Amino acid sequence: MRIHFWGVRGSLPTPLTNAQIRNKITAIVQRITPEDLVSEDARENFIQHLPEWLTSTVGGNTACVEVDTDDGNVFVLDAGSGLREMSYRGFEESEKTIHLFFSHFHWDHIMGFPFFGPVYNKNFTFHIYSPWPDTMNILSAQMEPPYFPVKFSTCTPNMNFHLLEPEKPIKVGDSTIICKKMFHPGASYSYKIIENGRQFVYATDVELTAASSEEKAAYKKFFMDSDMLVLDSQYTVDELFDKPNWGHSTCCHGVELAQECNIKRLYLFHHEPTYDDKKINSLVKIARWYADSSGKPKFEIQAASEGTDVLL
Ligand SMILES: [Zn+2]
Ligand SMILES: [Zn+2]
Repeated sequence: MRIHFWGVRGSLPTPLTNAQIRNKITAIVQRITPEDLVSEDARENFIQHLPEWLTSTVGGNTACVEVDTDDGNVFVLDAGSGLREMSYRGFEESEKTIHLFFSHFHWDHIMGFPFFGPVYNKNFTFHIYSPWPDTMNILSAQMEPPYFPVKFSTCTPNMNFHLLEPEKPIKVGDSTIICKKMFHPGASYSYKIIENGRQFVYATDVELTAASSEEKAAYKKFFMDSDMLVLDSQYTVDELFDKPNWGHSTCCHGVELAQECNIKRLYLFHHEPTYDDKKINSLVKIARWYADSSGKPKFEIQAASEGTDVLL
């Protein structure tokens, strides 16, 4: 399966600011030595070896992750503002059936839906899944005046809503999909997708530390032996102390969970809107240091970044 990140930010869309762009330019200029300028090759080599957080950005769109299965199904996890970008990806005829799964309906997870071109195209078919019985009403409510100019009734008639039962697997093609309730204000659901022996878990908007010991044990069982875990890592440890019960986790708690659950790749996700690329890069470094210092088996840690593909 192929995972593609269309939106990785938490809470609300967060464009790069002028000050952040200027800070990147300043940091790049300060790294230049006279030898870096002697030829075109030297200049290109200098650029190639700059840290990624200076030459790119994790992105500012809110939660939206595409999973393309080996048997050709298109799954989308959450409809944050990143979903608008997916409108332009180009769809083969076989990709015009889209399976959309919702973790919950906080604004940052639904705001992209009215901006996703295919929802207005009658050649597309949608299967929309969540454990909430009123999903259609929730999605259509954000398209009522005065919030949006185009009503839900103008969407393709091929909208099929499916009510999920938590922890009860469903099959879509060769894939098995299971959702599990997580600790978050108003609740959130994580999704596990299994295909051809590969296991991917999307766990956004979860406060690992606020869960009871029974819940934590159940989380571990759900996450166990995943090839890739996309996990809410919005806060620093300091911030978590200031924001108990706000429903988010830290990269360090993510590392501990990944070690306990034999996770092969941990992708930090739902980045805090007030953190710039430098800060998010430093959180990745902290997470890697924390994982290494434990002496436990190594695994991959990355910051989820808009536009990135991961093959499982
Ligand atoms: Zn969120
Ligand atoms: Zn939320």
